[in-house]
Amino acid sequence: MHSRASWRARIGGAALVAFSALAASLVTTTVTTDADAFVVKTTSGGELVHWDTRTVDYAIDSSVNDATRGSVDATLRAMRDWSGEVGAPELRAHSGAEGDPTKPGYDSKNGIFFIRGGYKPAGRALAITILTYDNVSGRILDADIVFNGAYNFTIHKDAPVRDGRVSPATATDGVVHGERDAHVVSGTNEVTAYDLHHIVAHELGHSLGMNDEMERRDVLMYRYTPPNDPGVRIPTTDDIEGLAQLYSTEISAGGNGCGNATVAPKKPSRAATHGAMVAVFGLLVFLALRARNDRRARAGFVAAVAIGALALLPSVSTTRGTARAAESNLALGHAKARVTAATTTMEDGLLRTTYALATTTCRAMTCPDLGHGTVWGGVVGNVRQEVGGQHAPSVGEDVNVSFASLPNGLRPLSGPLAMRQHVEDAAVVVLTK
Ligand SMILES: [Zn+2]
Repeated sequence: MHSRASWRARIGGAALVAFSALAASLVTTTVTTDADAFVVKTTSGGELVHWDTRTVDYAIDSSVNDATRGSVDATLRAMRDWSGEVGAPELRAHSGAEGDPTKPGYDSKNGIFFIRGGYKPAGRALAITILTYDNVSGRILDADIVFNGAYNFTIHKDAPVRDGRVSPATATDGVVHGERDAHVVSGTNEVTAYDLHHIVAHELGHSLGMNDEMERRDVLMYRYTPPNDPGVRIPTTDDIEGLAQLYSTEISAGGNGCGNATVAPKKPSRAATHGAMVAVFGLLVFLALRARNDRRARAGFVAAVAIGALALLPSVSTTRGTARAAESNLALGHAKARVTAATTTMEDGLLRTTYALATTTCRAMTCPDLGHGTVWGGVVGNVRQEVGGQHAPSVGEDVNVSFASLPNGLRPLSGPLAMRQHVEDAAVVVLTK
């Protein structure tokens, strides 16, 4: 037989276990929201994509003057803001020199261009960086930045200019499929202009080896740019931490094997959450049984209910995580597919990859068994080229795809009632690796 005091001690012990598990799960959840956001480029083998020189020279093409008044000054300021930070090279500019590149593309000469009327490889992006690097060592061989002249650019005053309308943010670069559409100028009364200073600073980040940040809006490398707003123009602490991953010898010397600095937001620890809930539930059942004839245990029962309610908090955040996962699942496109063939050719310093793939997992109402497509960029020998950060697939790779078009008028749809009707072949767009 146990004495009353010993039961009390046991209840206290169980409560302590429950609280500990609960605290652990709460801590796990909190830590995940503070994760770093920056993403850096890596080679297929996981090496960091970076310059191995102390200085990097860019020719500012005379066309940049046509983008908007002050565009060259803004470009120079943006270069200074990235220069020499945490071991990164100094970015230098010149213009009108003999031998300067006359167009973007791999020629071992870095250039900044404005192409009036638009630039095909830029698609609907505001601007793109064409980055060519050694796919084995990660050494950058060439970087070109192109402003898409299909848009209006300006240098906004520091205070955001808002006219009351909610304008959708536009993906700064990359060829965007199925995402928020670019807000192209139309009509005479509408003034939509994108901040050239912000855009060039963002593209220079790409030219140093940084990738887009998808979630944090307060950093320079955030994927989207709002119109009529200067946005972020100077690398933030998070951007600089990414740069340090690429260039600070202190950090990269001890670097992780995969060389990927991405600290993606982790999912809340389900084990910890479930642990807390199980512990609380056990305590609850135990106390409910005791509560029949013990007033103190009844008080304990109420306390356990309160703990149980608290334990639901991390599970709510887990639910939010699941909703986010579902969202990003949608953003992954209609299917997962394996690349069965890929051919890359170079023309005028630009790589282009044509590929074929076979659907492995369908997330839509209809999925073609086979698909094909073409993308700028790719790999030839040891040279990899990224055009606006698009992913050029290689054979054997599993990629997420979206169907640009389907035969027989079938439209890809997602939903609980989606039926899978396989069609033979369709044009696809590779979204991500
Ligand atoms: Zn970008």
